[in-house]
Amino acid sequence: MDDFSQICFVCSRPKEGMHRHPQVNLPICNDCSGTDAEKQALDDLTEGLAEGFVCGCI
Ligand SMILES: [Zn+2]
Repeated sequence: MDDFSQICFVCSRPKEGMHRHPQVNLPICNDCSGTDAEKQALDDLTEGLAEGFVCGCI
């Protein structure tokens, strides 16, 4: 069960030296931290949230 928290949310691979991304509270590995792939994954996550948020205004 603990394995899930060891999987990077950007590359979806189990890696060593994971830490939690403060913005989304998900595990991310050092290889992905600060890369465009991280930004892309963040965009996908926050976009989904923003959509639900904006829906009421239209
Ligand atoms: Zn990664």
